[in-house]
Amino acid sequence: MVDEAESTLARLARALGPEDYCLRLISPGPEVGRLAREVDLVVWVGGRQVAGDWLDKLLGQEGPPGPPVMVLTPREPRESWLEALTRGAEVMFDPWDVEELRARVARCLKVHARFSQLSNQVGELQRLSSTDGLTGVHNHRHFQERLREEFRRAQRYDDPLSLILMDLDHFKQVNDRHGHTTGDGVLREVAAALQQSVRETDLVARYGGEEFAVLLPRTHLTGALTVAERVRKDLATLQVGPQGSLRVTASLGLSSFPHRTVLSPEQLLLTADEALYRAKAEGRDRVCLHSQMPLLPPNPSQSE
Ligand code: GH3
Ligand code: MG
Ligand code: MG
Repeated sequence: MVDEAESTLARLARALGPEDYCLRLISPGPEVGRLAREVDLVVWVGGRQVAGDWLDKLLGQEGPPGPPVMVLTPREPRESWLEALTRGAEVMFDPWDVEELRARVARCLKVHARFSQLSNQVGELQRLSSTDGLTGVHNHRHFQERLREEFRRAQRYDDPLSLILMDLDHFKQVNDRHGHTTGDGVLREVAAALQQSVRETDLVARYGGEEFAVLLPRTHLTGALTVAERVRKDLATLQVGPQGSLRVTASLGLSSFPHRTVLSPEQLLLTADEALYRAKAEGRDRVCLHSQMPLLPPNPSQSE
């Protein structure tokens, strides 16, 4: 309850029954917005003019939905409560009828609870629609969206942007030898390890079956190369599968913007894919760059 005097609080407490509700009195001021987030209903005691801009802040469209606002106001001046009503507040006249007050408060709380529930469900659906069901990292669709978004941003602000495509080596053998369920488990472990190896601002996605993509905003080729090498090494030492009995390696292709042949998100993807293809052709378990000159000597420990 936002009020300057405590007299209304006592009346309200009597009317609502303090055993049913926990009432908190605060003075009008800058804290109202923050404190309002902690309650289920704001009762604004507008003896005089209802503060319109405060109502807009409390009921504003931005951010997660806040609590409903009920304005307790005298019938006059009419403009004052009409404005509050127009801005989306519930209006209750003072002096009030106790039963009506209780019913209106209960309705406000019910509507708000339903609204919060729906808003949580929408959030959960949004999360699910961008998540890969098997591994829990982002899915292909979300990756494509973010790739385009980040590319536009990089172009506009002259920022670098890098992309790593990673494909597990000989993964078919894991399935063939240990079964699909074990293969699925390994994919989950690889995704979790990949997420661990990169920064929170980098986006990890499952690009396809046993292929993953890492989008690295504000990261130059050299920085991305360090990340790719770390990912490759972390993965090669990771013990996966039943009782950690398996090892997997991966090949990684890396491309960066700006580059004279990378002028669109599609080209960033294509060039990273070409680099990945080269990493496979050159013997797997390595990082290849989209660049004319190979920056790294081939890994001498490779047998293929
Ligand atoms: P390469 O080193 O050339 O990449 O060999 P590979 O065997 O990994 O490549 P290939 O493209 O021939 O096969 C990919 C395999 O990945 C096919 C399939 O058995 C496996 N795979 C793809 N998606 C899934 C999945 O969701 N679960 C499981 N368990 N395996 C998958
Ligand atoms: Mg593949
Ligand atoms: Mg593969």
